[in-house]
Amino acid sequence: MSKDRIVILGAGFAGLQLARRLKNNEFDITIIDQYNFHQFQPLMYQVATGRLEPSSISFPLRKVFQKKSNVHVRLAKVLAIDTELKKVVTDDAGTFSYDHLVIATGCATNYFGNKNIEQFAFPMKSTGEAVTLRNRILLNFEDALSAGPGALEAIMNIVVVGGGPTGVELSGSLAELKKNILPKDYPDMDFSRLNIYLIEAGNATLGVMSKASQEKSQQYLELMGVNVWLNAQVKDYDGKTVTLNDGRTILTHTLVWAAGVTGNVPPGISADKIVRGNRIKVDAYNRVEGLHDVFAMGDIAYMETAEFPKGHPQLANVAIAQAKNLVTNFTNLSGRKPLNPFTYKSPGTMATVGKHKAVVDLPFMSFQGRFAWFIWMFLHLMLIVSVKNRLIIFINWAISYFTNDTTLRLILLPTKKTKLKQAVPEPEPELV
Ligand SMILES: Cc1cc2nc3c(=O)[nH]c(=O)nc-3n(C[C@H](O)[C@H](O)[C@H](O)COP(=O)(O)OP(=O)(O)OC[C@H]3O[C@@H](n4cnc5c(N)ncnc54)[C@H](O)[C@@H]3O)c2cc1C
Repeated sequence: MSKDRIVILGAGFAGLQLARRLKNNEFDITIIDQYNFHQFQPLMYQVATGRLEPSSISFPLRKVFQKKSNVHVRLAKVLAIDTELKKVVTDDAGTFSYDHLVIATGCATNYFGNKNIEQFAFPMKSTGEAVTLRNRILLNFEDALSAGPGALEAIMNIVVVGGGPTGVELSGSLAELKKNILPKDYPDMDFSRLNIYLIEAGNATLGVMSKASQEKSQQYLELMGVNVWLNAQVKDYDGKTVTLNDGRTILTHTLVWAAGVTGNVPPGISADKIVRGNRIKVDAYNRVEGLHDVFAMGDIAYMETAEFPKGHPQLANVAIAQAKNLVTNFTNLSGRKPLNPFTYKSPGTMATVGKHKAVVDLPFMSFQGRFAWFIWMFLHLMLIVSVKNRLIIFINWAISYFTNDTTLRLILLPTKKTKLKQAVPEPEPELV
């Protein structure tokens, strides 16, 4: 008997977990991603600030599936889905037919329609983007060495937009770079002129966390020298000047946009299935409403439950839990058993601001400080996919813990061969 073909779109937290956990030989699985590696987004800010190498938070997919003969990895961008013909069309790897489709394409940076910001701001949603941001930050200080007084201000201002966990963690890490590392690398430079701004439209940092965590994170950031501007909305950015709604402006060459995300919905999903945040509406089994053989999970999936009437939070834990439930449901489907509805109990949320400075909200209590910081580190290490990478991250963290320094500040710029691409398959590929 031929096996059922499952095609998974996206090898993020959800897609990777599903493909790893589905039993060998029960299904024929194809996992398609635009990158040949899985990315650990929670630590991207550490790549952007030269604390970790990109390879520590990225895992080659072919290595992950070396021992799973029923999993086929394809490096391609998904262009469209045809739910009538049950096909997925990609740019570089041809067309794939499926019995069951799982959409796990996550989110992209949301610029809220502002083309200027999209053109000039630095996003941080992929390892590549984190490296680009690292290049910009490090090049700033090389530029500063020869810049005249007129140009210096824009070089020495770094603006982070969005006071959620990404913005808070990045701003804190930049503040530590400014305090502990840059004065050693550039002994002749006056770093009192380096200003880090965190701009947030709401009235608190870490708006989704408890009041205690919000207040503490702001207090930590201000203590570390970050200028936290609340109730401040960025209206425009032309690559040199950030303009706020209230008329204030900041000169900067480095604007990091961490203000929101929007679902990566592949073309082919009809508009009536797409809801707020550009997410795909699913039932309690992560099945796309009205399509019995198409599932969506992770950030892209929007499931309303009594406990989460506005959908689940877009977190790695939710993505992993939905993937685990879908593993059970695929097994149930093949055994003709009833499906398990997805349920989620939040284990809590956390964010770190700097050394010994983290905030943790558990369902029954909140705490902050040194213990919270150790817990944050331990739990993030445990989520890392490979033991080798876990060890490398641990060693890097230990070195920076004791020396307040790192050795990872490489400026890696593109070369002429950057546009290297896969050959376009000729002639038109057959269905896989
Ligand atoms: C900077 C940052 C920090 C974060 N920190 C935390 C944290 O501390 N804790 C936490 O719980 N969550 C955190 N999150 C959120 C967490 O990363 C997401 O909730 C999680 O990644 C969702 O998993 P997913 O599998 O749904 O999507 P993703 O992990 O985003 O994976 C989606 C995959 O789909 C691929 N893809 C998308 N479109 C296409 C296409 N058209 N063709 C081919 N492939 C495609 C992408 O390349 C990607 O590999 C953070 C997110 C960011 C950006």
